[in-house]
Amino acid sequence: MPPGTMSNIVAIVGRPNVGKSTLFNRLIEKRDAIVHETSGVTRDRHYGKSIWNGIEFSVIDTGGYVEGSDDVFEEEIRKQVLLAIEEADVLVFLVDVRDGITEMDKTVAGILRKGSKKAMLVVNKVDNNMQQYEADVFYKLGFGDIYKISSINGSGTGELLDDLVAN
Ligand code: GDP
Ligand code: MG
Repeated sequence: MPPGTMSNIVAIVGRPNVGKSTLFNRLIEKRDAIVHETSGVTRDRHYGKSIWNGIEFSVIDTGGYVEGSDDVFEEEIRKQVLLAIEEADVLVFLVDVRDGITEMDKTVAGILRKGSKKAMLVVNKVDNNMQQYEADVFYKLGFGDIYKISSINGSGTGELLDDLVAN
């Protein structure tokens, strides 16, 4: 499945450790996923296939370069997000409810706002009811609707997928 032949492409973007890879793995779970890593250090990406409500789509997990490292440069994030905007039809902008809005989140938000692609703001690690309320702070980023999910236990992912394939 070379990237050039994919259609209905969803890219998951966001700063390190928000749970992009965990969400990716959940989306392609139990599918005939063909996952491969592209060569190169800063452009490593995972590509997989998923299906929801009978609609097939490809998913890109971005930011593989940060695996096992806290030393992440804003410039690298910027490159990843710009590449994702080019490649994808819809962007899933993932943030972490536990950290609130960080400076790096604001940077990613700014890049996505300037891009011409639809971006859905998804608040991850909403594992309990209290965090459902805490997640509301992300409305401030101005992306309209927000989605509250737990990539670990799967809550909220059905609603996200309904709207994802609708786009
Ligand atoms: P990435 O750097 O954005 O790809 O983030 P990862 O998918 O590697 O996840 C970073 C850490 O967050 C890991 O320890 C995950 O297990 C954890 N994580 C991911 N999703 C959730 C979630 O929904 N709830 C909780 N509590 N932890 C999560
Ligand atoms: Mg990752």
